[in-house]
Amino acid sequence: MEIIVRFKSLFSLMNLIVFAVMIVSYIAMIYLSLTFFMVGNIAILWLGNGIAIALFLVCSTKRWLHLTLGMISAYIIGIYTYFGSFEIVQIAFLTANVSSVILSAAIFKQLCKEPICFIDLRQNIFFLIVLCMMNALLNVTIGTTALWLIADFPPVLSNGLVWFVGNAVSIFASTLTAFHIVNSVKHRTLSLRISQSKLLELAVLCTATLLILVEVFGRQHYNKFTVSLIFLLFPVAMWVALRFNHYITSVWITVVFLACGFYSTVKLGPFMFMFNDLSYAIFYMQIYIFTACSTALLIGTINTEKESKNQMIAKLNQQLDNLTKIDPLTKIANRRKYDESIKSALAIANSEGTPLTLIAIDIDYFKLFNDEYGHLAGDDCLISVANGINQNLLRVNDIVARMGGEEFFCILPNTDAEAAIGIMQRIQASITALNIPHQASPVKPYLTVSMGSCTVSKSDNIDAMRLYQQADMALYAAKEQGRNTFVTTKFTDALT
Ligand code: GH3
Ligand code: MG
Ligand code: MG
Repeated sequence: MEIIVRFKSLFSLMNLIVFAVMIVSYIAMIYLSLTFFMVGNIAILWLGNGIAIALFLVCSTKRWLHLTLGMISAYIIGIYTYFGSFEIVQIAFLTANVSSVILSAAIFKQLCKEPICFIDLRQNIFFLIVLCMMNALLNVTIGTTALWLIADFPPVLSNGLVWFVGNAVSIFASTLTAFHIVNSVKHRTLSLRISQSKLLELAVLCTATLLILVEVFGRQHYNKFTVSLIFLLFPVAMWVALRFNHYITSVWITVVFLACGFYSTVKLGPFMFMFNDLSYAIFYMQIYIFTACSTALLIGTINTEKESKNQMIAKLNQQLDNLTKIDPLTKIANRRKYDESIKSALAIANSEGTPLTLIAIDIDYFKLFNDEYGHLAGDDCLISVANGINQNLLRVNDIVARMGGEEFFCILPNTDAEAAIGIMQRIQASITALNIPHQASPVKPYLTVSMGSCTVSKSDNIDAMRLYQQADMALYAAKEQGRNTFVTTKFTDALT
C-alpha cells in the first residue's frame, strides 16, 4: 500500500470527489438507519460500512487515505448533527468501524486478483468470509475492547453476538449493490438494457417479491400457516440468482433486507410473532435473510460460471471448426469448406431463383515451375496466386477454396455467365500483374493460369458433383486452347 502521499495530490480533483462521495454516502446511511430502520446506536454504522467497503474496493489504494479521512469525518458529522453531541464513547465505535473496514478491504484485495467484479465463485466466497464475517468479527473484538478501555463498558457476550450478526448481514446486504453501482459509474458500464422477455420476467419477479414482502413479512397478525410462508423466500431467492444477472440479484437482496429490517423494527412481521421480543426478532430475521440470500448468491454464481464456461467451450469449438476449414498454406478455404459452402450456395440459389457460377482455376505448367525454382518457391507462388484470386472476389458470400495442388475453385452466388467473364478477366489481369517469373513455361515467361466456369441459372436439385465436373471440363477446354485463357459454359443436365 502506498503510504507516502504528495502534498499536491492531496487536493487533486479526483481525491476530493472520492472524499466527498464517502462523506455524503456514509452520512446518508447513518440518517437512513436512524430514521427508518435499525435500533441501537451501533447499528447505524453498518450500512455505511458496507458502502465504505464498496468504495475502498472500487478505488485504487492511492485514494484510501482520502476514503479513510472521509469515513472519519462522515462519522463525526453524522453523529454530531443527529444527536447534537459527540461523546468520548463514540471514539471506540469510530476506531472499530474504520479499522475493520480498512483491514477487511485490504485482505480481500490481497486474496482476490483484479479485476474485482463479484461474478466468480471465489470472489463471492471471499466476500462472505472476509468482507461479511471477518469484518464483523474485527469490528466486534476491536469495538468491545476499545469500549472497555475508553469508556469502561464491560464486554457482554450477547451484545457481541448481535453486533456480529447485524454487522455481517448489513455488509452483505449493502456492499454488493453499492459496489456494482459505483463500479459501473467509474467504468461507465452501467447499462440498463434488458430484453423484452426478461423485462416481463422482471415485472413478475417484482410483483412476487412485493407480495411476499407485504403479505408474508409485513403482516400484523400471524398464525402458524402464515409464518410458514417465510420459506417462500428461498425459491424466490434462487429464481433471482439463477435467472437474473448479479446487478439485479444484489439489488434484490438489498431491498429484501431493508424491507424486512424495517418491518421488524416497527414490530411487524413473522419474527415478532415467533419471538415476541424485538432484539430476538431482528436477530433471527437477519440470520434468516442471510441464509436464504447467501445460498442463492453462491448457487447463482456457480451457475453463471458454468454458463460462461459452456459459452467459452462453444466459442473454442467454433474456432476449431473454422480452423479445420482453412488451407494451412494459403489460409483460404479448403475442400471441406468448399463442400459445405457449395451445397448451401446451391440451396439459396434454388430458393431465391438466382444464378450461380463456379470457376475452376489451375496454374499452367506448375510442375515445370517446381522443377525450375524448387518446391519452396512453388509454395510462395501458391500463396500469391490465392491472394491474387481472393482480391477479385468482392462480395461477402463469394468464396475461393484451394482444392488441392495448384487448383482453386470460386463459388460466386448471384453471378451470371456474363459477370463471370468480367471476374475471370480481372483474375487473369491480377495474375499477370503478379509477374512471377516462369522461364520454363511454353506459354509466357511469367506465371499464368487457365480458368473454366460453369453457370447455373435454374438450380432445381442440381448435383454439386456434376457442377464441379462441368467447371473442371471447361478448365480442361481452356488448357486445350493453349492455356492462359478461360472458357465459359452453362450448366447442362445432359450427361457427358
Ligand atoms: P497444367 O498446365 O496442365 O496444369 O500443368 P501442371 O504442371 O500445372 O499440371 P500437373 O497437374 O501435372 O502438376 C501439378 C503440380 O503442382 C504437381 C506438383 O509438383 C505441384 N504441386 C501440387 N501441390 C503443391 C504444393 O502444395 N506445393 C508446391 N510447391 N507444388 C505443388
Ligand atoms: Mg496446372
Ligand atoms: Mg492441376
